[in-house]
Amino acid sequence: MNNSKLGNTSNVKEYDMAIERTLAIIKPDAVEQGYAGKILDDILGAGFKLLAIRQVHLTQAEAEAFYSVHRERPFFSSLVRFMTSGPCIPMALEKEDAIAGYRALIGATDPAEAADGTVRKKFAQNKERNAVHGSDSVENGQAEIGFFFTAKELLQG
Ligand code: ATP
Ligand code: MG
Repeated sequence: MNNSKLGNTSNVKEYDMAIERTLAIIKPDAVEQGYAGKILDDILGAGFKLLAIRQVHLTQAEAEAFYSVHRERPFFSSLVRFMTSGPCIPMALEKEDAIAGYRALIGATDPAEAADGTVRKKFAQNKERNAVHGSDSVENGQAEIGFFFTAKELLQG
């Protein structure tokens, strides 16, 4: 019943929102501490649709490539060491407004600044070992999903 679309300003927000995809990663610190199940529960409980999931132990070259945008930052080599320290769990997620919605679910990069109830507040240790990753834009989400999954591996429909 969308005949009232034109001229109905009460539904403007609805039409502004779009189905988006984001890459999420449960990082090695959270996997090692046994938080993967609880974090996945939070993600699915927030209404994200799981399109694909796997477990992978990144090589140094892979971690450097994934975080190449940060290669000039002082924390880069430490970040790569952390991301290669054990297996992590990348997943492709889909939801309306997924980029902003997932970042709201996980909270600020530094768990000390993350809001109560967010994944990082509950499960992260510090600004580097911060439990999860999330894409920061639709374009980067698409590229990051492609880093871990082929189109065929994503749930269709
Ligand atoms: P992510 O991209 O992993 O979702 P983010 O977008 O919140 O996190 P970015 O600024 O993109 O944060 O940083 C990427 C990752 O690098 C962080 O999640 C964290 O693991 C690490 N990192 C960021 N800033 C610092 C820092 N100042 N010191 C140590 N590690 C950091
Ligand atoms: Mg980021």
